[in-house]
Amino acid sequence: MSEAEYLTVQEALTAVLAGVSVLPAEQVPLLAALGRVLAQDVVAKDSLPPFSNSSMDGYALRAADLSGASAEKPATLQVVGDVAAGAVLDVTVEPGTAVRIMTGAPVPAGADAVVPVEDTNESWRDRERPLPEQIQVNRSVQAGDYIRHPGEDIEAGQAILAQGHILRPQEVGVLASLGIGQIAVVRRPKVAILATGDELLEIDQPLQPGKIRNSNGYTQAAQIMALGAEPVQLGIARDTETAVREKLQAGLDAGVDLFISSAGVSVGAYDVVKAVLEEEGNIGFWRVRMRPGKPLAYGTYHGVPYLGLPGNPVSAMVSFERFARAAIRKMAGHTQLDRPTITVTVQEDIDSDGRESYIRAVVTHDENGYQATTTGAQGSHMMTSLVKANALLIVPEGVKYVATGSQLTAWMFDWPETIF
Ligand code: AMP
Ligand code: MG
Repeated sequence: MSEAEYLTVQEALTAVLAGVSVLPAEQVPLLAALGRVLAQDVVAKDSLPPFSNSSMDGYALRAADLSGASAEKPATLQVVGDVAAGAVLDVTVEPGTAVRIMTGAPVPAGADAVVPVEDTNESWRDRERPLPEQIQVNRSVQAGDYIRHPGEDIEAGQAILAQGHILRPQEVGVLASLGIGQIAVVRRPKVAILATGDELLEIDQPLQPGKIRNSNGYTQAAQIMALGAEPVQLGIARDTETAVREKLQAGLDAGVDLFISSAGVSVGAYDVVKAVLEEEGNIGFWRVRMRPGKPLAYGTYHGVPYLGLPGNPVSAMVSFERFARAAIRKMAGHTQLDRPTITVTVQEDIDSDGRESYIRAVVTHDENGYQATTTGAQGSHMMTSLVKANALLIVPEGVKYVATGSQLTAWMFDWPETIF
């Protein structure tokens, strides 16, 4: 067996990221593209708005006809037509005339402005009301007022979104307005999850002496889903090389892009994952100078990238956050790989052991800025410490003591309302 190498978190991360590449593109229906990364440039085929239209319910008219009009001296215009949104009116607005118009309706020929209904003596919006023969307008307008011009938002031929752009609801809306129902995005990573250990039960099994339920498989599936990737559960492999091989084969058959396993990579006598990977993969075993999460295996299994995380649930989750998350986001085409971080002031003394430490914490906000307290006992089997946490405080490598009032970087899991 090879000797484990000692690496810093940054060295391990760099090596993990070097082993994965951005996945190929696929064409998907517009809504399936939400949260994904564009794999094409988007050029507008149409202008938006596509035609001149009114931004108000009112009257389309010629601005020159209202020159000098006021509440005391209203201008009188003949109403020669009515146009609703969706309709087209074949009438030309001649001097001294106006057309009743609704928001979004095309501005008729001859008109160069709209005056809102509120500024006329016919301040109603009821479609049923008969069209008045004439109106009085008690203000003047500039040519172009209350008209939305074609191409004001987007010009036909304009580059709208570039490859690499992340599609949020607003991008989905823009694509819909341009009639783009199918779009090329980076394929979703398919990630296999393998739990290993003779002590593991399925989650619907009653506890038995010496056994625990496989929680890591579920934490990891949830972490993968939260990244918009697709988990492939390989289930539980017993601590035999045959069992591990069989499960990994199922992952190969499913065509996964990445294997993630938990446990079996430390120095225990039954750590068979190590043995299998050394025989059939190209794998490095690392001791990362990180707490929690020291042991980490990384390489390939039959050509597929493989990340072996520690078994302890907290170590597994934190190692996933630090390494697997970045790898999956890179494969999905993202360039921002880490969680957002902020600087916080710690509200208690924190001891560390010189490894880069990820301390489960609660970050809040008050008039003095962001404050952090730890979630208490930090044992790597204590899952409730993660449930309480909204952040991980990063104690840098080499630091053994952090005094109350010091500043640390917080790796934010989420942004609850209490933070604002
Ligand atoms: P190992 O790396 O095999 O020495 O496992 C370290 C610790 O993690 C042990 O206490 C295991 O029982 C626990 N563990 C391993 N796999 C899982 C899992 N899938 N779910 C929950 N705990 C686990
Ligand atoms: Mg084990």
